[in-house]
Amino acid sequence: MMHRARKRFGQNFLQDSGVIYSIIALINPTANMHVIEIGPGLGALTKPLLGNLDHLDLLEIDRDLVAYWNQESLKGLRVIEGDALKFDFLAWAKSGPENSGLCKVVGNLPYNISSPLLFHLVSAAAVIDEQIFMLQAEVVERMVSKAGGSEFSRLSVMLQARYHMELVLEVPPEAFEPAPKVNSAVVRMIPRKDFSLNEKQWHALEKVVAAAFSQRRKMLRTNLSAYAQRLSLSEPELTARAQDISVERYIEWAKILSA
Ligand code: SAM
Repeated sequence: MMHRARKRFGQNFLQDSGVIYSIIALINPTANMHVIEIGPGLGALTKPLLGNLDHLDLLEIDRDLVAYWNQESLKGLRVIEGDALKFDFLAWAKSGPENSGLCKVVGNLPYNISSPLLFHLVSAAAVIDEQIFMLQAEVVERMVSKAGGSEFSRLSVMLQARYHMELVLEVPPEAFEPAPKVNSAVVRMIPRKDFSLNEKQWHALEKVVAAAFSQRRKMLRTNLSAYAQRLSLSEPELTARAQDISVERYIEWAKILSA
């Protein structure tokens, strides 16, 4: 199919067969899985995935690509035209065929919307088994960074509170056409089974983490001044910076603040 890559949809199409093979092996598709691919583009991942699955759902925003996939009318393929940022992944996950296997969301994501999309997906984490995504390498490094590391940020805390995450593959720009200006990486995200925050506690986590990281160089004595008393912060915590506090400690704080 002739298609000119559209920048506004973050279109960089995977070309490298070795990288494609590695990503498919990481997704490990088996016949009865319930899988949705975000942004199939020209199908670098789609066709090899479909070769191993009974059913595959595609979610694509670009009308020309939607028309292409509809006209291909491949067996087992369902094409959904839509914006992943507005898509109801919770309803999709629950709509799987009876006795379907693991539920997975996969894709080589448009990098311009990656953070909002990751946060949007959190609402469906309770019913998803695994997410495998290609993203900008810098974003993946922040996602998996541990407390104390220079990349540890709001994104790290919020996503690590909900998922186990691992950088599983590094991918250079030459693997794509057109080549992006940045390095890429594949991340595996598995929702935590021990996640115990209700909605109110999750909002408290969002608030306290945003406040803690509001000025990275300032001590928590300043950034968390509004909460310090209720949290009974210790002296070492008052003089620490947001990036020195563990995810589990942020979770404890969220529980205290929403009690
Ligand atoms: N999967 C293909 C590949 O690996 O070659 C294409 C990946 S390309 C980086 C991103 C894809 O996501 C494109 O097909 C693009 O049209 C689609 N896309 C961009 N924004 C989207 C959105 N908000 N919702 C759904 N799909 C989107």
